[in-house]
Amino acid sequence: MNEYDSNRIYDTVKKIGYLKTNDYLSADCYLLNTCHIRDKSKEKVYDEIGRVRKNYKNKKKPIVIIAGCVAQAESGEMIKREPYIDIVIGPQSYHKINNIIENFTFRKKEELTEFDTEDKFNYLDKIQNNDSSVSSFLTVQEGCDKFCSFCVVPYTRGPEYSRPFKKIIDEAEHLVRNGTREITLLGQNVNAYNYKDEQKSYKLSDLIFELDKIKELCRIRYTTSHPRDMSEDLIECYSSSKKLMPFIHLPIQSGSNKILKLMNRNHKVEKYLDIYKSIKQINNKVEFSSDFIVGFPGEMDCDFSDTMNLVKEIKFINSYSFIFSPRPGTPASKFKPIDKEIAKERLLNIQSELEGHQIKKNKSLFGSSIEVLVENKLKNQDKYFGRNIFLNSVIFEGDEKVVGKLVNVKVEKINRNTLFGKIDQNKNMRAA
Ligand code: SAM
Ligand code: SF4
Repeated sequence: MNEYDSNRIYDTVKKIGYLKTNDYLSADCYLLNTCHIRDKSKEKVYDEIGRVRKNYKNKKKPIVIIAGCVAQAESGEMIKREPYIDIVIGPQSYHKINNIIENFTFRKKEELTEFDTEDKFNYLDKIQNNDSSVSSFLTVQEGCDKFCSFCVVPYTRGPEYSRPFKKIIDEAEHLVRNGTREITLLGQNVNAYNYKDEQKSYKLSDLIFELDKIKELCRIRYTTSHPRDMSEDLIECYSSSKKLMPFIHLPIQSGSNKILKLMNRNHKVEKYLDIYKSIKQINNKVEFSSDFIVGFPGEMDCDFSDTMNLVKEIKFINSYSFIFSPRPGTPASKFKPIDKEIAKERLLNIQSELEGHQIKKNKSLFGSSIEVLVENKLKNQDKYFGRNIFLNSVIFEGDEKVVGKLVNVKVEKINRNTLFGKIDQNKNMRAA
C-alpha cells in the first residue's frame, strides 16, 4: 500500500512542480514513506534520516518529510528525536501535502495526523493516477476495525473505509488505458470492502466481476484478506472469474486456537481449513500463502507444533513469517514475552518448512510451459522480467515486443524465488 501511496503522493506534488530526481543530493524536498508494522521498520527511518543529514552537511537543506504510519504513530516525537525532520504527515492527510509544502518555512515544523480518509480520497480522485506499470496496485479499502492484539494498523491507518465503487472502476479503466494489464486490489482487509450507494451494497466480488469486463486487463489479484471476511460470493469468484489469479494470500498467523484467541483473530483454525477446502473444491489450481507470527506471548511448544502441522497440511507456496514484535499501545505489548532464543529457533524451523514447500512447487514447474505477464526488461541485461499466475518472478530471454504481453515461457532452471527460462516457441504469444 505504501507503494501505491507513494505514487499518489507523487501525482499530487507534481501539480506544484516537484519532480523525482535521481540526483538526490540536490533535492529541494526529501520525502520518506514509512511502515510501522514492526519495530525494525521504524528504526530504519531514523537510520535513513541520519544518512540524509550527513550527506547534506555542506549543502542547502531540503524540506524533510516523513509520511506513512511511523509519522502517524510517532508524530511530534519524531521531530524531537531527529530535528532534521521538518514535516510529519500521516497516511490519511496526503491531500494536504501541497498546501503544507507551498507554505512551509524552516522556522515552523508541521505535524498532520488527522484521520480524514474520505477527504483524502475525494481529493485524490480529482488527480489522475498516472501509474503506467504493466502491473499496478489500486487501493480500494483502508484501515481496520478488527484490533488484533498485536497490530498497530487500526491506530495508524484508522477505521475501515471503503472507496466508492464507481471511482475504483474509473481508476482501473484509466490505468488500463495507460498500459496496465494486471491490477492488484489493495486494502489492509481488502475483503472487508463494502460500499453502499442508494441502489446497492458492493463487495469485493462485485469489484472483481466488474474488472473482469475490462477487455485489455489480463489479471486481477487482491491483498491482504482476512479469513473472517472470506465470504461465499468471494470464494465463488475462483470459479466464475476469468481473470482472478489462482493464488490467495490469506494470513492465519498461528495454527493454534489458543494463540488465535490471544491474538483476538476471532476465528478458529477450523474456519481457515473450511475456506481452504471450499476454494480447492471449486478450483483445485488455487495455491495459498500466509503470514505467520511466531513467539507470540503464551506460545508453547504444543502451539508451535499446531502451526507446523497446519503448514504441512496446507503446503503454502509463498509465505511471510516474523517473530512477534511488541508494538507500543497494542494489548499484546503488555503480555508476558516468551524466551527470545526459543522464538528465533521457531522462526528458523517454520521458515525452513515453508521454504521446502516453495522449492517443491517451483520444481514441479521445471520443464513446463508457464504463462507469464511480462513487466519489464532487466537493467543492463538482455533478459525480461515477469510473473507467473502464482506471482513467482520469472526471468527469461525475449525481446522488447513482449513487454505488457502474456507469453509462454519454458522453465529451464529454478531457485527458491525465481524461475528462469526461454520463450516457448511452440506456443503463441497472446496480445494482452
Ligand atoms: N490485515 C492482514 C491480516 O489480518 O491478516 C495483515 C496485515 S499486517 C499489515 C501484515 C502482517 O504483519 C500481519 O499479517 C502479521 O503477520 C505481521 N505483523 C503485524 N503486526 C505484527 C507484530 N506486532 N509483530 C510481528 N508481526 C506483525
Ligand atoms: Fe492488523 Fe490485519 Fe488484524 Fe487489522 S486484521 S488489526 S490489519 S492484523
